[in-house]
Amino acid sequence: MARYREAVCKLCRREGEKLFLKGERCNSSKCAMEKKPYPPGQAGKGRRTRKISDYGIQLREKQKIKRYYGLLEAQFRGYFEKANRKKGITSENLLIMLESRLDNIVFRLGFAPSRRSARQLVRHRHFLVNGRVVDIPSYQVKPEDVIEVREKSKKIVVFHDSMKRVKENKQLPWLKLDKAKLQGTVLELPGRADIPVTFNESLVVELYSK
Ligand code: SF4
Repeated sequence: MARYREAVCKLCRREGEKLFLKGERCNSSKCAMEKKPYPPGQAGKGRRTRKISDYGIQLREKQKIKRYYGLLEAQFRGYFEKANRKKGITSENLLIMLESRLDNIVFRLGFAPSRRSARQLVRHRHFLVNGRVVDIPSYQVKPEDVIEVREKSKKIVVFHDSMKRVKENKQLPWLKLDKAKLQGTVLELPGRADIPVTFNESLVVELYSK
């Protein structure tokens, strides 16, 4: 499947915001946004001060959300179309669908240090959903789904390292993790207030509704 091939830190620098694409490094002093908090390229430092149009603001917000969840344009647009067809508020539907992706859930539960790593672990068939192997990162989880590391994958170091980093008090209220069993449960789908991102997703609706 196609995916971003360029250095991921450049994506954060282009958006002027940490998108947390590299796991532990993102919370350390090695983060490129700490060292070079301006857009990449020779004109980078000057570019941040330019006035940006409404269209530009909407476009940048869309790019940020798309990159945060590691999607390409066509995939992201597909989520928007589905969100638009659902009942309720399109922008909220969009975020809830993105949060319900299996790779995101694996990351949110703490089994992987980043979404990118979570996606790879899912593709490599290390997870069961309700007892069956699921190797599709975009798989949409439902309330009461149980996600667990396969028995034969439980010795893989990345899972144990990841569990050591998980802080119980940082768990999201709509997910439940059993560290000892390497198992998580989706208690319910999140509401907008339960999704810990500061995006203005309504700008995506404005952009695509033009
Ligand atoms: Fe972004 Fe993480 Fe790279 Fe920092 S380390 S620039 S947050 S991907």
